[in-house]
Amino acid sequence: MNRENSKKLFKDAQKYIVGGVNSPVRAFQSVGGTPVFIKKGKGAYITDVDDNQYLDYIQSWGPLIFGHADKDIEKAIIETIKNGTSFGAPTEVETILAKEVLELFPHLDKIRFVSSGTEATMSAIRVARGVSGKDDIIKFKGGYHGHSDSLLVSAGSGAVTFGSPSSPGVPADFTKHTLLADYNNIESVKKCFEAGNVGCVIIEPIAGNMSLIPADKEFLLELRELCTKNGAVLIFDEVMSGFRASLKGSYGLLGIESDMVTFGKVIGGGMPVGAFAGKAEIMKELSPEGPIYQAGTLSGNPVAMSAGLASLKKLKENPAIYTDLEIKANVLMKGFKDICEENSIPFHYNVRGSMFGFFFNEKHPKNFDEVCEGDEKRYAKFHSEMLDKGFYFAPSAYETGFICTAMSDSDIDKTLTAFREVAKSL
Ligand SMILES: *Cc1c(COP(=O)(O)O)cnc(C)c1O
Repeated sequence: MNRENSKKLFKDAQKYIVGGVNSPVRAFQSVGGTPVFIKKGKGAYITDVDDNQYLDYIQSWGPLIFGHADKDIEKAIIETIKNGTSFGAPTEVETILAKEVLELFPHLDKIRFVSSGTEATMSAIRVARGVSGKDDIIKFKGGYHGHSDSLLVSAGSGAVTFGSPSSPGVPADFTKHTLLADYNNIESVKKCFEAGNVGCVIIEPIAGNMSLIPADKEFLLELRELCTKNGAVLIFDEVMSGFRASLKGSYGLLGIESDMVTFGKVIGGGMPVGAFAGKAEIMKELSPEGPIYQAGTLSGNPVAMSAGLASLKKLKENPAIYTDLEIKANVLMKGFKDICEENSIPFHYNVRGSMFGFFFNEKHPKNFDEVCEGDEKRYAKFHSEMLDKGFYFAPSAYETGFICTAMSDSDIDKTLTAFREVAKSL
């Protein structure tokens, strides 16, 4: 497959843009090769600047549940934009989208819109700290909640729990308030509660940033109890799983009520939108009702809101799509597993609604350390060979894959046919 134009554009981009990309994973560093420059997308497919077509299992990292250039979302954006792009004053569409979201989550009363998932989690944590009056927070190894300072932590040295910065530029004074627990391991959470003065726990109830690892229901129930007992605010980060794993994210699958939920990705229908929502007694502390400050020039932007609204309306009108998306995800993953078995390649997978994750691991992983036991070299080879056959999977073994409604059974079939060839030399 010829990708000369992508190579040229990447070289040029690197002269002006750091690493040639505006978000690191796009640089293909962990799988090697040159990033594909995209010209356009339609439905399940994208076309690159060399006119190669790819079946897209990334879908902008989650937002595009209806695929690229969906007619209804496109129409909503164009109609809204004709009346101006931004006012910095309230518009009706914000309330309409707020109602549509909150209707799905009876345990959440109020919402605030922001412009990214990072902003949503960062602001939710501020509110949680403000309300609880306690500075320490717990996050989980392998959980990703955006790039704000107090969340860029890795396991510190010594006797567990307190994190140290995982990036230069983050003061250790900030991360000393972030305690690290192991996913699906309630004992490690208890240790954190004992070690610090914990006001907030943030977790992806369906983790989508260490490939796909759903939390056990029992674990989340115990976590819920621990937070209640210790006066800590429980935040479910559903920036990825919200409207993806099911219409109501993890809540739709498990029915567990967190105190706050963060949203992003699908909620903007491909435009930059994030949101955090919570119970009334928590959200009333947020400015302008309360003293906890948070603001945004483009927050609730009407163009972005109308894209999100068009997307959410379609999802609510067709809740059965999740069954269909999950069937397709399972056919794909079961197919991969069978092919791997034929070729004696260790393989495990998880599916939740339209999300899938797989591992070239000997045993089925339940947390980040176990995910890391996988064969990254094998993933890199898988990635580049599937790409050459026209299948666009995430350029990292630690990402979730996405099915969109524009994918057909024959698209899945074609993927399996290609993988059957690729697997022989994996
Ligand atoms: C993507 C993601 C974020 C960050 O969202 P951005 O819009 O990239 O800032 C936060 N939390 C989770 C669970 C995510 O998947």
